[in-house]
Amino acid sequence: MKSYEGINLNAEDIAKAIYDGIKEEMPSEFSLIKWTEENLGIRVKISHTDSKEFKPSGLEYFDPARNIFQIWINSKEPEYRQRFTLCHEIAHIIRNSGLKYGFSTGDIYSAWGEERFCERFAAAFLMPKILFRDKWNSITDGDIWKRARLAKFFGVSGDAIYYRAKELKLGNE
Ligand SMILES: [Zn+2]
Repeated sequence: MKSYEGINLNAEDIAKAIYDGIKEEMPSEFSLIKWTEENLGIRVKISHTDSKEFKPSGLEYFDPARNIFQIWINSKEPEYRQRFTLCHEIAHIIRNSGLKYGFSTGDIYSAWGEERFCERFAAAFLMPKILFRDKWNSITDGDIWKRARLAKFFGVSGDAIYYRAKELKLGNE
């Protein structure tokens, strides 16, 4: 359980540092891509596919022939899901480039640890802690309505809001 907590804290810290660095109140996946390219000195290419053969939500790999990081997004999934996937795939790039560029992403050398890191990074970037808490507390309705409104505000799924609220120890229901 110790490493599980470590992965989460690490993903949270890195997502926050990037969000703060971008200096925009509303988290934008486009700004995240730009930040990643500029700060890691790399190029990222995003492509969408609705091919039946393409099963995962997303995929990321380095293409040495073109010297770019290629991300594929499954466009059969809802838009809010595609956004989350994009941030998840960017997290793979940041984690793997980060090892090379010397910032620590913690003890996450297992495939499980890496996936956990990317999920938490995407949640923490798209739903920044302070902004999330402020919005949550500014809505006086019950938790179900809070979650519905926040899903709309942040452009994520109701499930993503549910888990983020739990992570941040908000809500009673
Ligand atoms: Zn992944």
